Amino acid sequence: MVSKSPRWVIVSDFDGTITEEDLVISVTTHFCEENVGIVDAVQSGKISLGQGLSQLFGNLQSSQRDHYLAYLKAHGALRQGLSDALAAFAKWQLPFFVVSNGLDFMVQPLLENLVEPSHVYCNRADFSQPQIRIRKPWPCDDACQGDCGLCKPRLVRLLAHRYQAPVIFIGDGRSDFLGAEAAQLVFARASLAKHLNDSRQAYFPFEDFTQIRDMISHWLDAPPMEPNRNNAGFRQTFD
Ligand SMILES: [Zn+2]
Repeated sequence: MVSKSPRWVIVSDFDGTITEEDLVISVTTHFCEENVGIVDAVQSGKISLGQGLSQLFGNLQSSQRDHYLAYLKAHGALRQGLSDALAAFAKWQLPFFVVSNGLDFMVQPLLENLVEPSHVYCNRADFSQPQIRIRKPWPCDDACQGDCGLCKPRLVRLLAHRYQAPVIFIGDGRSDFLGAEAAQLVFARASLAKHLNDSRQAYFPFEDFTQIRDMISHWLDAPPMEPNRNNAGFRQTFD
């Protein structure tokens, strides 16, 4: 428990949100063509994220680690405005956390000097076997039946409780659906935005972190209404 609660805690997805490209998809399909079918099965909801992740990385050879790192370096461009936004969040004393189904060797190097390691929740890679094995330190708790791999709604609830503050969630894809639904305010793009539109849940669209920083800056003076996202009767969208 912290002594003084911040106004909000900010929780962001990594792949396709902090990065421009979804690196889990691009790395696993670049090095193994048959992973394309597994990505499709995850995105269409035929298999769970937890299952899909184990299969995707289980098809990659541990011995190719240096090639994966070189690929990540070449493709790991960060979304515009990130470092300025992080500086602003720090100035406003809004804790910032990353939640990712990506593996530590993919996520941590790209966030070095930007986000402190204890604020990054991700899965872990084990290179000790011929194929990569995944360690999942944050599986679903009793409150989640999503088989998420890394359970974003669990972490959203945990951080809201730790800071006694509402959560702003930022995301873009299927792995963010449940995390966004557990948060009080949501920034969404791509398939997360489509999902929230289709299910008539409120969110703020974004394409870069400058927009998010500017919107939150505005909220410091004029906070937005926080919808009760657990209220099935809620039918308002912000965009
Ligand atoms: Zn879960």
